Order: sequence, then structure tokens, then C-alpha cells
Amino acid sequence: MVDKELLEILACPDCKGEVEYDEANEKIICCKCGLKYPVRDGIPVMLVEEAERS
Ligand SMILES: [Zn+2]
Repeated sequence: MVDKELLEILACPDCKGEVEYDEANEKIICCKCGLKYPVRDGIPVMLVEEAERS
């Protein structure tokens, strides 16, 4: 589970867009460019090189 307050301060490092948490897939998804960032042990990994393009 990812902390809601943490989610609010996170931004996509690629486009600086807002992100949302995909609970079912445990991914952080950028609302703007659609990059999907992994979540490891509840910690979002906000690295472009770790992200998947959708
Ligand atoms: Zn983005």
C-alpha cells in the first residue's frame, strides 16, 4: 500500500505530470505521459529507466 500523502507529492520525473496509484497492479501511473513506475515494498520507484511505457 502506498501512502496517499506521498502520492500527492510525487510527480513523473519524465514530464513532471501528476501520478496516480494503480492498486491492482501495484504501479504508479503518470496521468500525462502514461509511464508506469514500479512499487517495491510500498516504495514507489520514480526512475524513468525503471518505468514501463504503456
Ligand atoms: Zn509522465
